[in-house]
Amino acid sequence: MLELHLHLDGSLRPESVWDIADSQNINTGCSSLEEIRDNMICPPHCPDLTDYLRRFDIPILVFQKESNIERFSYELVEDLAKEGLEYAEIRFAPSHSVKEGLSQEAVVEAVISGINRGMKMYPQIKIQLILCCMRGDNMYEANMKTINVAKTYYGKGVAALDLAGAEALFPTDSFRELFDYARSLDMPYTIHAGEAAGPESVISALSFGAHRIGHGINSIKDESLIERIIKDNITLEVCIQSNIDTKAFPENEVHPIKKLYDMGVHVTLNTDNRTVSNTTLAHEIELAKSIGFTDDDINKMWEYAKMARFD
Ligand SMILES: [Zn+2]
Repeated sequence: MLELHLHLDGSLRPESVWDIADSQNINTGCSSLEEIRDNMICPPHCPDLTDYLRRFDIPILVFQKESNIERFSYELVEDLAKEGLEYAEIRFAPSHSVKEGLSQEAVVEAVISGINRGMKMYPQIKIQLILCCMRGDNMYEANMKTINVAKTYYGKGVAALDLAGAEALFPTDSFRELFDYARSLDMPYTIHAGEAAGPESVISALSFGAHRIGHGINSIKDESLIERIIKDNITLEVCIQSNIDTKAFPENEVHPIKKLYDMGVHVTLNTDNRTVSNTTLAHEIELAKSIGFTDDDINKMWEYAKMARFD
């Protein structure tokens, strides 16, 4: 098993967050591990995307010191190895961890140190990192910095770039200059698109030269886009439970992944945020089977994921 779409800050162990907040006097507003857990995990009937995104508030608080970042990175590798993964691409936004003075380079080095320790302990798994540029106000300089940092550590733990954050508020097309720059440095990238926004977002991401799309499920609404995705061998990193939680597709409809697969799109199974969505790859496989995927189909999706790896 392998996964291509997994956010580090959405996959922290609540026990470790509690331990760190308690021992370092970090004010999370929670007075017990149970409360931390309730804040970090989205409820089964998550009201909306805003509620989902609120689940990242506490992780960001404890993600500002090198030793904490190293520990969380190691622990995620351990969790993935124990689930039986052979390969994973873990993504995070270095610009989210500079609130207490760390540089983006220091953040990336702390993550690399944690994953290297994890791979030493669990040599059966290989990890690569994806650095996320963020949608948002006044992010231009921080995002340019993230691209430069990704270039510095490319081949030394970092494999690619991403664009994450509120897609409906900050359209993909407005980030063209950023990806022109990334391309000029020969940096590969995937882009979150077609999750909270429509097919036009995926069309923009493809026009930037992306060969992989985070989610991309709203491509289903545009037949000519689907044809292009198939013709150009574009891979969609689909995260079923996360899409259920954020209501990325209508509640009364079946998730479009099976329809996309049957049309010939290279779809893959991923968790997105293991803690926030309270999921594992085993759970994503169960969800896929519940909407009609056979074991052979699931094996084919692992093959699609292997072909799209950034390493
Ligand atoms: Zn994501």
